Amino acid sequence: MHVEKKSELRSLLKSGDKRCKLVEPRNTKSCVWRFFNLVQCDDRIEPYACCKTCGDLLSYSGKTGTGSLLRHRCLHSSSSNGKFGIRISRTPL
Ligand SMILES: [Zn+2]
Repeated sequence: MHVEKKSELRSLLKSGDKRCKLVEPRNTKSCVWRFFNLVQCDDRIEPYACCKTCGDLLSYSGKTGTGSLLRHRCLHSSSSNGKFGIRISRTPL
């Protein structure tokens, strides 16, 4: 797996390294991207998504889709205003 890459990216993001940044995904249909950013490193999009709530990195690629992101704990946290689906539908554009 890509654990080393993941922790490397995480520390780069944490240290504010200019090679690495969070970007808003484009052309995505899924509401899940309101809760995540994509990770860009050296001008390449990495196969990870960064949770806007806790800053955790999750594996993501176009192939695997957003299933793993939808299962992320922050989207199901009881401390945050009810269930995921409700949050999404109530979020104004
Ligand atoms: Zn999170």
